[in-house]
Amino acid sequence: MSKVEIKTGGEFLVKDIDANDIFIPEEFEEEQQMILQTCYDFLDAEVIPNLDKIDKKENNIMRTLISKAGELGLLGIAVPEEYEGFNQSFLTTMYANEAIGSSFSYAVAYMAHTGIGTLPLLYYGNEKQKQKYIPRMASGEMAAAYCLTEPNAGSDANSGASRATLSEDGKHYILNGQKMWITNGGFADILTVFAKIDNDRVLSAFLVESDWEGVTVNPEEHKMGIKGSSTTQLFFSDVKVPVENLLGKRGEGFRIALNILHIGRIKLAANSLGSAKRTINYAVNYANERKQFGKHISSFGAIQHKLAEQVIRTYAAESSIYRASKQIDTAIAHYESEGLEHGAAHIEGSAQYAVECALLKVYGSEMLDYVVDEAVQIYGGMGFSADMPVDRAYRDSRINRIFEGTNEINRLLVVDTAIKDAQKNKYDLFGPAAEVMKEIENLKPVLDGSESYYEEKHKYVKAFKKAVLMAIYSMTDTLQRKLAFEQEIMMNVTDMMIQLYVAESTLLRVEKLETIKGAEAVKLQRDILDVVIYDAAAKIQKSGKDAIYSYAENNANVLIKALEHFTTVKGLNVKDNRRRIATHLIEENKYKF
Ligand SMILES: Cc1cc2nc3c(=O)[nH]c(=O)nc-3n(C[C@H](O)[C@H](O)[C@H](O)COP(=O)(O)OP(=O)(O)OC[C@H]3O[C@@H](n4cnc5c(N)ncnc54)[C@H](O)[C@@H]3O)c2cc1C
Repeated sequence: MSKVEIKTGGEFLVKDIDANDIFIPEEFEEEQQMILQTCYDFLDAEVIPNLDKIDKKENNIMRTLISKAGELGLLGIAVPEEYEGFNQSFLTTMYANEAIGSSFSYAVAYMAHTGIGTLPLLYYGNEKQKQKYIPRMASGEMAAAYCLTEPNAGSDANSGASRATLSEDGKHYILNGQKMWITNGGFADILTVFAKIDNDRVLSAFLVESDWEGVTVNPEEHKMGIKGSSTTQLFFSDVKVPVENLLGKRGEGFRIALNILHIGRIKLAANSLGSAKRTINYAVNYANERKQFGKHISSFGAIQHKLAEQVIRTYAAESSIYRASKQIDTAIAHYESEGLEHGAAHIEGSAQYAVECALLKVYGSEMLDYVVDEAVQIYGGMGFSADMPVDRAYRDSRINRIFEGTNEINRLLVVDTAIKDAQKNKYDLFGPAAEVMKEIENLKPVLDGSESYYEEKHKYVKAFKKAVLMAIYSMTDTLQRKLAFEQEIMMNVTDMMIQLYVAESTLLRVEKLETIKGAEAVKLQRDILDVVIYDAAAKIQKSGKDAIYSYAENNANVLIKALEHFTTVKGLNVKDNRRRIATHLIEENKYKF
């Protein structure tokens, strides 16, 4: 296999990226669109008509629907053919996740099964383990769950108290412990359970069948949202786990848990994208029907603002998610070309983009919270009725900021990982950052006035990068080892990075789309891009100021002046841009951008 070259994760901070080098959703091929359609057809036939039954957990319907998805092949999209799956690319899996993501509680069960439930075994299991379980998981015969969290070990997942001890005859590990908040816990057949062997400092992972003696399941938790998703505590009391069911090596569990979460995070962003599109459709349908003061409420500027902003954030998320997904795919191909087998290549490929996965989890979940919140508002009093679909969308969205690592943990990870990767020489962050620090002593105009539309936007994005690099350099230089105790500042800098990544991804997508379809076809997309860049500039400036005033000592004024310089963009009639975007949405009566 010829060697596949890749970009390094986090590199977007320091490099200029060419639009031709990224993937845009308009490039999905026919086969991928057919898979997407199959997912939506399944939802329309089996899931959406049963949402109330699912939320009431009638007749174990969720378990039945997992089996039905298995019959259709939807559980095996990412599974290699030798384990009876369809061996589709990471990108295609993400596309399917977008569709399934729009199915409320069902999405959570599906994701837990196909993602955190199946992937630890698929990526870390030995051949015998995979042959034994994966085909049955891909067919839906066995449902899966991932058991990491404990009552006293949530964000600090490695602090769990569950223990495993080798039996005297050396044939079993005797597992004892308690797990909490386990998705699919009420019906899962196969569990990946994380526990420490003897007095180990780090976790190991075990494959446990839920019908083994000593495994007990608590009643379902009562939750604010995703009510149809099964969430339970599980207890393990002297459970005899055969030694051949140790997953990976002893002490490798924590690494398994973390590596699986990179993928979980970006997939959660894809889920949020699907939910956002469905919710926008509810919102615009309602706005086009509801009349007040003799007019449809969709004709009011205040409502158009909300509709447009829902679209803008969704479009920006979509641009960013698929850009990163394709890069992960390319990285997987790169590691395979270097001789890594399927699982190891997937682990390395996603770990390469850990920064992007974490920032997309944050952006995607917060984008969705905005979309559902404004959808309730657009429905007015009816939005507060439990009989309306936006009620479910609103309640179900909230969990996304909590699981797969809370957004606080992910925000801290983004900047921390970017810095650590640079310190490990994965890419040069501090060299370009030092250049920016020189530049701020003698600032040159960002624009010279001769720029074309896209040249101007690229120069803005390049200036945003300088703002972020300056913040990272001056923050680390000033705080040094104290940085870890200044979480607020780290979160500010992460917010700068998020806005930069999303703005750049939107720019690259629209620019590439224009080269494919021509300027006339992307007028609305340019409207979106204008607002994204304009807003990103203001948000980067605000987060940057919050950070700089919190750590800078003598040079605060110099840094603030440079920050303002790098984040000042031309004025924009945002009202008109948003009205044009909203008008298109209102005319189509659905999200179509
Ligand atoms: C519906 C649902 C389904 C779930 N499914 C699963 C599952 O299938 N498998 C599984 O293993 N787990 C699952 N979880 C658990 C979930 O991953 C945890 O709830 C999450 O990781 C947070 O842990 P915690 O609840 O203990 O919160 P805590 O860790 O106690 O956090 C409380 C608050 O403190 C903040 N915080 C914690 N540590 C830090 C820090 N170092 N710095 C700054 N802030 C910090 C958090 O961000 C949060 O705001 C699920 C949870 C829910 C609610």
